[in-house]
Amino acid sequence: MARLAIISDIHGNRVAFEEVLRDIDRRDIDAVLCLGDIVGYGPEPSECVQMVRSSCRLAIRGNHEDGVLAGELSKGWNPAARAGIAYARRVLSAADKQFLTDLPASFSVAGLLLAVHDSPIPSEHGMNYLRTVKDAADAFFWLGESICLVGHTHVPACFTTTARGATRPHLEDISVVTPAPGMDDGSLQTSAVESVILPRDGRAIINPGSVGQPRDRDPRASYAILDLDRSVAEFQRVAYDVEEAMRRTIAAGLPGILGERLAIGA
Ligand code: ZN
Repeated sequence: MARLAIISDIHGNRVAFEEVLRDIDRRDIDAVLCLGDIVGYGPEPSECVQMVRSSCRLAIRGNHEDGVLAGELSKGWNPAARAGIAYARRVLSAADKQFLTDLPASFSVAGLLLAVHDSPIPSEHGMNYLRTVKDAADAFFWLGESICLVGHTHVPACFTTTARGATRPHLEDISVVTPAPGMDDGSLQTSAVESVILPRDGRAIINPGSVGQPRDRDPRASYAILDLDRSVAEFQRVAYDVEEAMRRTIAAGLPGILGERLAIGA
């Protein structure tokens, strides 16, 4: 068994990613898993791809990788996201793109672990958002493994249920906790939790939050540690030089909003 660092949604923010890797280095970690969206939005996608290559045991593809590799983007992409995709297409090398092309869309260890970018619910575009208890109930229906790792929302959270097997639990049989300090839309019950004990007989969906573009009003980089021996998920926040990341975003010619949102974690 092992202690795994779970990272997601780096989004070309090398300044944040370097700080997170330094933090991981200081801890007793056996392997790093990346849940996708290495690129998009941020100014240094190529550097981030190379850092994933050298530091992650396993990585999967996110919707921003799919966007970069696609011929044409679907309608759901907003202008800032489109600008990030266009920028990444320009600056990624052929080797970077090949690496992204070769990434799997999911990874599973039968019965134990499933890693996907957005949700275990099958979808064509990988754009499911797993935010609420109802979203989690729908997701548990598709989850035969004990633990599911997801990213995509950029908000750290852990949903647990004692209901076993790929069944849809009643909403009251799902617990959700998030260390997110500033969620005010009522979708998640927030708390000061830093770790969650996973049900040994049930199932859990863990979202580590975002390394490079947190959206829970905490600008610090977010990741999680999954301790399989202790059945515990630990949420970590890492302060980094946000001003420098903003400066690089603007210098790259990306839309100003992509820098500004880093300062407020939104
Ligand atoms: Zn993302």
